[in-house]
Amino acid sequence: MKVLVNAGPWLAVPPPGYGGIENVVATLVPALRERGVEVVLASVGSSALEVDELISVYDDGQFTELQKPYNQVMGIAHAHQARVAAELRARDDIDLVHDHVEVVGPAVLSAFGGPPVLHTLHWDLRKHPAFYGAFPPSIAVNGVSESQLARAPDALRAASLGAVYLASPLADRDLRVDRGEYLMVMGRICGLKGQHVAARICQKLGLPLILAGPVSGRNTPAELDEVVQNPYHPLHSHPDVRYHLDQVSRYLDGDLVRWVGAVGGEARDQLYAKAKAALFPIQWDEPGGTAVVEALALGVPPVGLRRGCLPEIIDHGRTGFLADSEEELAEWVLRVDEIDPEECRREARRRFSPSVMAERYLELYEAATAR
Ligand code: UDP
Repeated sequence: MKVLVNAGPWLAVPPPGYGGIENVVATLVPALRERGVEVVLASVGSSALEVDELISVYDDGQFTELQKPYNQVMGIAHAHQARVAAELRARDDIDLVHDHVEVVGPAVLSAFGGPPVLHTLHWDLRKHPAFYGAFPPSIAVNGVSESQLARAPDALRAASLGAVYLASPLADRDLRVDRGEYLMVMGRICGLKGQHVAARICQKLGLPLILAGPVSGRNTPAELDEVVQNPYHPLHSHPDVRYHLDQVSRYLDGDLVRWVGAVGGEARDQLYAKAKAALFPIQWDEPGGTAVVEALALGVPPVGLRRGCLPEIIDHGRTGFLADSEEELAEWVLRVDEIDPEECRREARRRFSPSVMAERYLELYEAATAR
């Protein structure tokens, strides 16, 4: 079977640091190829993932271009999708398209008859109600959690083949390091992820906290500072920048609560693996939660708010804790030693390994083809 996996034009695969969708593709593709699937990757030229063929419009990731006006962003997305569509028109060796590109992806791909398409929904589906409410009926979709699909518009639920949980290669790696004393939030710095709540709790409890993640594509405090110092910078009033400035930075005391910028690769894995617990004080219905799965795989107990996909991933009291309020979250944080890291690792191997994800996608490829 030959599958065209469309990762979009925003970041290389694997991503250099933060990168949600690109991480998913980098986890899935090797496991598919181990199972004999040939993979044509549609991404950017700098993608280093081993595949059978790479197609691209852009040499490098266009992520920073997302700050540009909406129509320019759409122009980039369209150019990428048109290239994929042209490729599919010109050849007949692709059995299925596994599409991960938001919004313009399915619309362009459904405009002509080609191989079957499975589109993976990565977002909170309320983000683009008009788009998701009128989804092209010829395209099969899957969610990344049951709770995400439960909130989906009817048209989308009708097209859905089910949920496939996100996975992490860390589930197959036995990364054991000496535990540190700090807690961590790993993720984009933004109001949805709620870093300020973790910071407030840790200040109150006197516990060290490390926040890792980019602020609107800025990967270091120095890069962010350039934006903050320049009132004419296009990102100056970006909501994530304002969130960092107004809600997070007041807790950053250089001692107890620290923001280390975005971390990637082995440095990220080591930093995360040494944490005493991973906090998820999410302020939205998290659709998939790769960072939660990674915490389990590293034997770092996740402690989060009971929202979105978290109750599907964390088994309260066995592999982590779920809270209904900030106060309760603080209470559970103090009890993380009650969670057995081995139980977290076992759960990740059983439910969130790349093999488990690939097997599930192969089932869905078959179902999408049969449709
Ligand atoms: N991540 C990273 N470096 C950072 C912050 C996050 O590599 O500094 C990774 C994190 O480990 C996870 C992904 O980015 O693999 C975030 O995925 P998640 O589903 O948790 O969040 P979202 O896709 O909503 O940003």
